Amino acid sequence: MSGHIESETVAAEAVDGRTAELAANLAELNKRIGAACHSAGRDPASVRLLPVTKFFPASDIAILHRLGCQEFGESREQEATAKVADLSELSNVRWHMIGRLQRNKARIVARWAHAVHSVDSERLAMALDGASRAALDAGERIDPVRVLVQISLDEDPGRGGVAPEELAALADRVAAAPGLRLAGLMAIPPLGVNPAVAFARFAGLHARLLADHPGALELSAGMSGDLESAIEHGSTCVRVGTALMGARPITSA
Ligand SMILES: *Cc1c(COP(=O)(O)O)cnc(C)c1O
Repeated sequence: MSGHIESETVAAEAVDGRTAELAANLAELNKRIGAACHSAGRDPASVRLLPVTKFFPASDIAILHRLGCQEFGESREQEATAKVADLSELSNVRWHMIGRLQRNKARIVARWAHAVHSVDSERLAMALDGASRAALDAGERIDPVRVLVQISLDEDPGRGGVAPEELAALADRVAAAPGLRLAGLMAIPPLGVNPAVAFARFAGLHARLLADHPGALELSAGMSGDLESAIEHGSTCVRVGTALMGARPITSA
């Protein structure tokens, strides 16, 4: 056997090992989501699992795609843009930008993002609107960018999010922007706060948003450690990194 074939065998075994690991983690997560929906009296089809693949290689995304995942969350523009290019052959993939976004990156992200979960200012919303319209005109996308307004319950600007009292005005701006579609809310519980308390507040804010914008149905809330509580409080999309992919090499926001 030549060294070339041996190394191919080793690579194939590594892929098989990772496939088995990701498949097991996916099954476990679907069980957790199912159980949480059951206790909350919700239809499991009303909660989507969004794999968060930041810091993990494009090859992992290709494996997840073979396992049936079609939506992926990324939080860093450069890394995401590179992976989107690497994986352009995968069919029916929807990319979600879930991390902090600088206005000067709106044009790039509008080329690939199905949805942006982290819109937290009118300036960013307007930049994304212009970017989305340019991408639509250029044939780089076919739908407006779906926007989830990120809400914050703390005053920490480093973690992003708009304050609750500014939510209505920002949502109105997004809803009126031709390049955007207001899809709902995204929420991250503040550090050091009981997540259940935070998720209950997010649910109240979402209900108020829905009264003005009945189409803004998405509540993107819940991560590896707190998805059960988020589901109990109406999450429609849990963004899961660690419990699916394993520990990230570096901690991140
Ligand atoms: C990384 C990240 C996640 C996933 O967090 P885990 O705790 O690893 O599941 C979810 N949401 C956002 C915005 C993230 O940046």
